[in-house]
Amino acid sequence: MRIVCPYCGDRDTEEFIFRGEALGRHPGLNSDEYAMFEHVYHRTNLSGKTSEHWYHVQGCRNWILVERDTLTHTIYSARLAKDGES
Ligand SMILES: [Zn+2]
Repeated sequence: MRIVCPYCGDRDTEEFIFRGEALGRHPGLNSDEYAMFEHVYHRTNLSGKTSEHWYHVQGCRNWILVERDTLTHTIYSARLAKDGES
């Protein structure tokens, strides 16, 4: 599988570290235990199109937000995570 890094271009996924599905915003330090538990541990583990975080450890060292189909491994988009998750 290959990811087109916004900085480095087309690269093999061996250059990346997979973090997991992209989560929503942190609930905040004043949130209750349940909200924090949900944020840290609850994953949807979707079968199909999902958003994931990948770290380009052997390249530009940026976090990349990748839209990927977990069944076919088709990658629909890849952009810098710091540019937003919507
Ligand atoms: Zn890169």
